Amino acid sequence: MRTFRYERGTDPGQAVTLVAGEPDAAYLGGGTNLVDLMKLGVARPRLLVDVTRLPLDSVEPLPDGGLRIGATVRNSDLAAHPTVRRDYPVLARALLAGASGQLRNMATVGGNLLQRTRCYYFQDVSRPCNKREPGAGCSALDGQNRDLAILGWSPQCVATHPSDMAVALTALDAVVEVLEPTGAREIPLTGFHRLPGERPDQETTMEPGGLVTAVRIPALPYARRSTYRKARDRASFAFAAGSVAAAIDLDGPLVREVRLGYGAVAHRPWRARLAEEALRGQPATEENFRLAADEELAAARPLAHNAFKIPLIRNLTVRTLVELTEGSEQAEGSAAPERGR
Ligand SMILES: Cc1cc2nc3c(=O)[nH]c(=O)nc-3n(C[C@H](O)[C@H](O)[C@H](O)COP(=O)(O)OP(=O)(O)OC[C@H]3O[C@@H](n4cnc5c(N)ncnc54)[C@H](O)[C@@H]3O)c2cc1C
Ligand code: SF4
Repeated sequence: MRTFRYERGTDPGQAVTLVAGEPDAAYLGGGTNLVDLMKLGVARPRLLVDVTRLPLDSVEPLPDGGLRIGATVRNSDLAAHPTVRRDYPVLARALLAGASGQLRNMATVGGNLLQRTRCYYFQDVSRPCNKREPGAGCSALDGQNRDLAILGWSPQCVATHPSDMAVALTALDAVVEVLEPTGAREIPLTGFHRLPGERPDQETTMEPGGLVTAVRIPALPYARRSTYRKARDRASFAFAAGSVAAAIDLDGPLVREVRLGYGAVAHRPWRARLAEEALRGQPATEENFRLAADEELAAARPLAHNAFKIPLIRNLTVRTLVELTEGSEQAEGSAAPERGR
């Protein structure tokens, strides 16, 4: 049995100092991902610094109308928050699409952002994996890669980021507040997770030992007309085969503004900027939604077993935008989600 020390963080600065002082240390949020990886022998920390009692558990309105969400807010609490449900239904829906009620009661915002890939080979220490051991090779490239990336991958790693919440936050232009050993910093979520390149073991642009302290979402009045659609193998308790987060603002029949995030397609939550650009100023029609998705997906490079993701994401984009734009029923407020099970 491999032993480890457990410490409880009392304030963010002390937690960062504890982690910086031990090369094999990890922050412990709800533990729903990290503890599983420890049992599998994938994560082998010598020190766990529990962050769940840090004073980072509130959701606060910002003067500009946005929201500041503490890193230890539980996924269930965030999904049920009245302002999130009213102003950012895409976020509430994405959270409720993830995991199960019990897991969401434990999972924290920081841990959700930092959760590791579900690539089978990453979780199987008997198989080569560049993410676990740089230079070892990638078993998925010519192996079971049905669930893995179609965009932005490299020959070193074809893994996807598994979070639903992060896809919604990407579309909402969220900003991650971090406390690193060298000080506090803000990182746009679109630049927080890395593409794999030559170093798939480096998953974020945070300094080693960085602590996520909060996530800020700017005001986006038209996000009241937003939603999240996820395709998966089972109706619940399953990671996405593909997902789309969308918010749209109409000017009569035209698209004034639109935000699109794609999930389960890349090493990071994917902001579909080419599709957004293709839609701005265009009539909000099913045909234009399809053409815009095609614009984004032109860069897709499917692996042996996941070419289905291209039509899947295209169809999800179209269905999601049609749902948000057809009829006055879909106007502001009506997209608020039901409470999760
Ligand atoms: C059966 C099952 C099904 C699931 N299905 C889904 C799903 O469909 N969709 C989905 O999105 N997710 C799903 N999940 C994943 C789940 O959402 C994550 O496990 C959870 O969000 C992780 O949060 P946590 O607080 O428990 O993180 P932990 O397990 O505590 O930590 C995860 C990682 O984040 C680091 N970390 C934690 N907090 C911080 C912080 N504040 N700053 C810096 N680093 C930090 C830890 O060191 C660790 O590396 C599923 C999980 C399971 C077990
Ligand atoms: S895809 Fe990435 S995580 Fe999976 S085996 Fe290859 S290197 Fe490892």
